[in-house]
Amino acid sequence: MERRSFITTIGTVAVASPFLGVIGSCASEAKAFEGHKFPELGYAFNALEPYIDAQTMELHYTKHHQGYFNNFMKAAEGTELLETPLEKIFETISKQPDVIRNNGGGFYNHTLFWESMTPSQVEIPADLLKAIETSFGSLDDFKEKFGTAAKTRFGSGWAWLVVGTDGKLFVTSTPNQDNPLMDVAEEKGIPVLGLDVWEHAYYLKYQNRRPEYVDNFWNIVNWDNVKKRVDLAKG
Ligand code: MN
Repeated sequence: MERRSFITTIGTVAVASPFLGVIGSCASEAKAFEGHKFPELGYAFNALEPYIDAQTMELHYTKHHQGYFNNFMKAAEGTELLETPLEKIFETISKQPDVIRNNGGGFYNHTLFWESMTPSQVEIPADLLKAIETSFGSLDDFKEKFGTAAKTRFGSGWAWLVVGTDGKLFVTSTPNQDNPLMDVAEEKGIPVLGLDVWEHAYYLKYQNRRPEYVDNFWNIVNWDNVKKRVDLAKG
């Protein structure tokens, strides 16, 4: 399938449902877009301790994420963007003003980030493990590659596990609040796991030790949600 229509399909599904409902549905259940909604966090601020501290989580969710959402909604007011799923907006983000790119990206990326984590250890599903082994050799090789992307992203940005147009998984990173759905991204695809490496994501607990924050991420990854996103992306 052509990339553009592929992502549009996924986008319709993804934004049709509220938080976590996204990844519980399948393409055949796609509903009409019902507007942009700020998501529930899904767990307590202290739930990811000791890997991510409660104060960081509270500020990150209530100030940073909420701020991106509010600023996006304000900038989108009175435009067709209010009726357009983020995934669709990202397809032509280069034609939008920076306020939409930065805040729309921040709104989307953090929702995916919260869904990427869980306080309950989740064993990686067998078919996801197989897909990772097919694309990267082994789970450790994947973690190494993803970790390197996260640790070496200069300044602020994100590390991603992405489903490419060929259905294979790859790792990439993007600056600021960009993501692989955007037409400006160097490597495009559908993100299924994201790690925020802005300093606001780790500085209170880890200060300058970003690598330690990145390594600890593996203790709280929600592999079930990653699998659901991969299945959805592959159709
Ligand atoms: Mn952030």
